[in-house]
Amino acid sequence: MAEERKQPQTKQPQPKKLTIDEMATFCKRKGFVYQNSEIYGGMSGFFDYGPLGVELKNNIKHEWWKAHVQSRQDVVGIDGSIITHPKVWEASGHVANFTDIMAKCGKCGNSVRADHIVEDKAKVSTTGLYAPQLQELIFKHKVKCPRCGTDALKIAQPFNLMFKTTVGPSEGKEAEAYLRPETAQLIFANFKLVQENARMKLPFGIAQIGKAFRNEISPRDFLFRCREFEQMEIEYFVHPHKVENCPYVDEFSSYEINVLTSEMQKKGGSEHKKMKIKEMLDKKLILPWHAYWLAFEHNWFVGLGAKSENLRIRQHVKEEKSHYATDTWDLEYNFPFGWKELEGISNRSDYDLQQHIKASGKDLGYFDPETSAKVVPHVVAEPSLGVDRTFLVFLFDAYEYDSKRENIVLHLNPKLAPIKVAVFPLLSNKEELVTAAKKIYDELKEDFSCLYDEAGSIGKRYARMDEAGTPFCVTIDFDSLAKHDVTIRDRDSTKQARVKIKELPNILWQLLSGKIDFGNLH
Ligand code: ATP
Repeated sequence: MAEERKQPQTKQPQPKKLTIDEMATFCKRKGFVYQNSEIYGGMSGFFDYGPLGVELKNNIKHEWWKAHVQSRQDVVGIDGSIITHPKVWEASGHVANFTDIMAKCGKCGNSVRADHIVEDKAKVSTTGLYAPQLQELIFKHKVKCPRCGTDALKIAQPFNLMFKTTVGPSEGKEAEAYLRPETAQLIFANFKLVQENARMKLPFGIAQIGKAFRNEISPRDFLFRCREFEQMEIEYFVHPHKVENCPYVDEFSSYEINVLTSEMQKKGGSEHKKMKIKEMLDKKLILPWHAYWLAFEHNWFVGLGAKSENLRIRQHVKEEKSHYATDTWDLEYNFPFGWKELEGISNRSDYDLQQHIKASGKDLGYFDPETSAKVVPHVVAEPSLGVDRTFLVFLFDAYEYDSKRENIVLHLNPKLAPIKVAVFPLLSNKEELVTAAKKIYDELKEDFSCLYDEAGSIGKRYARMDEAGTPFCVTIDFDSLAKHDVTIRDRDSTKQARVKIKELPNILWQLLSGKIDFGNLH
């Protein structure tokens, strides 16, 4: 039987949360994220990651890949292309169904997403509502056009979110293609090749990280809803006769999560309740594989510094479930604008493989060596996570205004921190300190994401690194020259310790990987 995992504990106290606009301002000021093409007035729903942002984003993807692919025997990865045969999107149902309901203003022509405007203005839930019900709510609550303020909002045709493009020099229908709206379908389309090439035996997963594009009617809330974003997804395939048989779920038996079931919502509840995975299974609220992947994902977030009190799992109610899903749970985060989806985890059964078998006429079945029969595997869980929303979660939960220091401290997990170590000479006008500091920097930069800074007082340099989330700063002073040692300063406690220069790389490795605590250095 699998050994039970220890539940990571949230260490930091809960400070006041920033608004999403304040977070966007902070991200721009520090070089995490910019509005795309700002010098031309910006482009709504598109963002560019700056020097600190690209490092943080890469670290998130690296940690995800490491935990979900490289350290598992049962998951392999692919990197599919963004443009793919349009038949893929016909078979998956995206061409027909990947739509949002739009409301258009008869006066000024402004288009808005109907469910969002009703929720915002009328403060009622729109989960699972269709166009006529949304129109009724627009009338009933006198929802006005946010641009011109008139009562002229009318439900328009459903709006397909896929971006169209043309491939090659010809025009017309035969040249039409789509930018992928999700990474998942590339996994299904390559299922057979991957399974055979990597000699995967059920149960197994195929993972992918990559860009996705959705022509959102009204992108908003900064990185939360954009038109170009990234996803980290897994399709986890199991034998159709063994869909309830998860050998790993015991690892999480006593793992506790905030839970909001569809039953609780049906009774009008919106408050979650803490439950152990075992309790959910005993009460048959969820199937074992689904529970396993939800706990695995939750554990990944908390292990890298997300606060468990800001996370919950919510089961979709019947009306909001996608046509292909037999059960869906979202991992939700308590964003400043409410509890919202961070990651969707659906049980898709054999829907997608069957669709592609039908549409392509190809045999995508799996040869079961035990029974010598061909079967079509079921996807018992599809963890589908947005990189950009994940980026926000780690920033929100790391952000603290420290009133003693009178500056912002980003308590990012060292594995995620954009800069791991900063190196400073105590004084920039002392040649010998500068030379010694640059030498240490040159050595450290071979192994760590490192920054050298000699501008301003040492206090200002520490403050800049606290705001960037840099876990450790190394300072070279006059004693360093005589004793061949340096000061390491810890971002979270501001404590300092002296270590020998020759031991510095090894100590930094241990600190950054969590093998030793800073306190051990005293
Ligand atoms: P929502 O209901 O918020 O539109 P969704 O249910 O359509 O999300 P999925 O299709 O399940 O989203 O996509 C998986 C993940 O991709 C989401 O949980 C989210 O993290 C991310 N994602 C989806 N759409 C966007 C977007 N427009 N901008 C940023 N991330 C997104």
